[in-house]
Amino acid sequence: MNIILLGPPGAGKGTQARILVDERDMVQLSTGDMLREARTSGTEMGKIVAAVMDRGDLVTDEIVIGLIREKLEGAESSGGYIFDGFPRTLAQADALGALLSEMGQSLDAVVELRVDDDVLVERVVNRAREAEAAGEPVRADDNAESMKTRLMAYYKQTSPLIGYYHAKGGLSSVNGLGEIDAVAGEIKDALG
Ligand code: AMP
Repeated sequence: MNIILLGPPGAGKGTQARILVDERDMVQLSTGDMLREARTSGTEMGKIVAAVMDRGDLVTDEIVIGLIREKLEGAESSGGYIFDGFPRTLAQADALGALLSEMGQSLDAVVELRVDDDVLVERVVNRAREAEAAGEPVRADDNAESMKTRLMAYYKQTSPLIGYYHAKGGLSSVNGLGEIDAVAGEIKDALG
């Protein structure tokens, strides 16, 4: 089963993806994690994307599609893939459809996590505070200022994917406001 977790920054996509990895032996493909890894390891690409990410804008389709292509070519997953934070634009959605069909695979479900904007800002600011208190690295884009840009990028570029996948079929919407386990339960029901 290959699925997309769709939703604004702070909706809980990463948290829910990790639960699915544990429970269903799926492989999580997070373009955000891949880009952060590229930055940490100091690759040329990592240097190019750093400022864009910190500001909260989207990096180019070419870069993220390239990353996903590389991962899909190299990986094997018995339980299927969870696309977390990808696709974020219509061009990326088309590219994903083409990549999967090249591999003889399909997209089985798209789960939208719905959360109010106020809660999203609160969550990312808390995530930064908690990381700091635990002595862990704080994401440079987890602050109220970058969050404004990230939310705008979501509404302008990513939210049209809800209509796109609704039209294609297989879209479910889940209330992302509840406790982690409750949201996980709703996703489980949506996936059947
Ligand atoms: P995330 O960890 O998914 O919140 O992603 C963090 C940042 O990485 C985003 O704000 C973007 O700058 C960049 N990013 C991650 N995934 C994508 C994508 N699919 N398309 C464009 N930019 C992305």
